[in-house]
Amino acid sequence: MRAVATDELAGALARIVGAAHVLADPSLRAPYETDWTRRFSGSARLVVRPAGTAEVAAVVDACREAGAALVPQGGNTGLVGGGVPRHGEVLLSTTRLGGLGSVDPLAAQVTVGAGATLAAVQAHAAPHGLDVGVDLGARDSATIGGMVATNAGGVHVLRHGSMRARVAGVEAVLAGGQVLSHLAGLRKDNTGFDLAGLLTGSEGVLGVVTRVRLQLVPRPARRVVALLGMPGLDAALRTAVALRDGVPSVEALEFMDAASMALVRSHAGLAAPVPGEHPVFLLVACGAADDPLPALTAALAEPLSAAVGTERADRAALWAYRERVTEAVGAAGVPHKLDVTLPLPALPAFADEVRRTISDVAPGARALLWGHLGDGNVHVNVLDLDPDDDRVDDAVLRLVIRRGGSISAEHGIGVAKTRWLPLSRTPEELAAMRAIKNALDPCGLLNPGVLLPAGA
Ligand SMILES: Cc1cc2nc3c(=O)[nH]c(=O)nc-3n(C[C@H](O)[C@H](O)[C@H](O)COP(=O)(O)OP(=O)(O)OC[C@H]3O[C@@H](n4cnc5c(N)ncnc54)[C@H](O)[C@@H]3O)c2cc1C
Repeated sequence: MRAVATDELAGALARIVGAAHVLADPSLRAPYETDWTRRFSGSARLVVRPAGTAEVAAVVDACREAGAALVPQGGNTGLVGGGVPRHGEVLLSTTRLGGLGSVDPLAAQVTVGAGATLAAVQAHAAPHGLDVGVDLGARDSATIGGMVATNAGGVHVLRHGSMRARVAGVEAVLAGGQVLSHLAGLRKDNTGFDLAGLLTGSEGVLGVVTRVRLQLVPRPARRVVALLGMPGLDAALRTAVALRDGVPSVEALEFMDAASMALVRSHAGLAAPVPGEHPVFLLVACGAADDPLPALTAALAEPLSAAVGTERADRAALWAYRERVTEAVGAAGVPHKLDVTLPLPALPAFADEVRRTISDVAPGARALLWGHLGDGNVHVNVLDLDPDDDRVDDAVLRLVIRRGGSISAEHGIGVAKTRWLPLSRTPEELAAMRAIKNALDPCGLLNPGVLLPAGA
């Protein structure tokens, strides 16, 4: 690689994408340089916004020839710092790759550009009675390419799986400028390595995803949401498992602790959702072709403190308690976000233990717990802590491993957790990942420092 001056590189990129889509001015670059949590930021040499696969390939070639590393970025809603520059890389924004292909109702599939937002694809599929099958609170900004790169989870994993289960094909540009395109979306296609599966969850270190073939799911005609006050996480878990196993229309089983509920209520000015004080809240969402309420009500036979919404506005009002908690935490400070999974039986004890661990390591720090209870996925958020002090991260992630869990449930590793990846993956697995990275990106052009720890 030949190091070239930034002006020269900007000129080469402008000839590919047009001068309006190469941003050199610091004020124009700024929105791309800090992540959603504000914990991770850096300076980009340039921001470049290509409009199609051929332009992405040409940008990758120009950067490789100029010796300039690249950071792919979609909606910049990732929570582990993997989509923002660190050391003057070129930031490749996919926001102009937003094309939406026509929906194939027979296959229940659609091909979309990597920069299309989740909300745009949901709206595109809805008139065909179809849905993406993955849903998350950042839907208005998160892109399909970013969701593939992070193997995003969200609230419907227990019904439809995470992003990997929804990917029927991927097109991507490798570090060498080669375009891999496998978008036929055949349900059965045993012709070698699953490259789309490999790119899913690769966090931008193996290739730049440019288009995605999505396997859609039926969109339920009727939906109902219930928010329940629970006496503890044990009880919430027992109720959640009974609903998961007994009510086929269950789409989401979410929980939040009392501290999270108090914070979101004060941030968003929301009234108490149900009467009384409760240490834990359980949100249950069901969706089906027929009214799911009778089966849900029958399954919740015990008297519970509950609010139920059947109409769209009422359902959205109940979801707001759970979905706006991320925003409430962001408004309260710069959080340490530790997204982890535990085996379901270990979860209630873990919740108590993790609170004790945090207060032992950092007295005065505030711990908030919420997440996707059906998947054993807890978002441990810690406020009132120096952003650079990672003693709490270390203690929490080691506790997760002792209890048989994973250090990342759905947000990925990014730069936030590279140090701890060896806790969840064996040296042999890390060596295999490094060998794949070296084979596809021998110069280390794509997202250096993300996902794989140095020397792994
Ligand atoms: C309010 C809120 C709620 C959220 N809820 C959830 C949730 O329930 N479940 C969940 O899993 N996540 C959740 N997230 C996290 C985030 O939305 C997801 O990780 C999402 O998949 C990121 O998409 P993005 O387009 O914003 O990606 P970015 O943040 O831009 O990038 C994320 C990573 O993907 C890489 N990348 C992005 N685009 C491409 C591409 N085209 N090709 C190659 N690499 C690429 C980046 O380099 C980076 O490493 C939430 C975030 C917020 C702010």
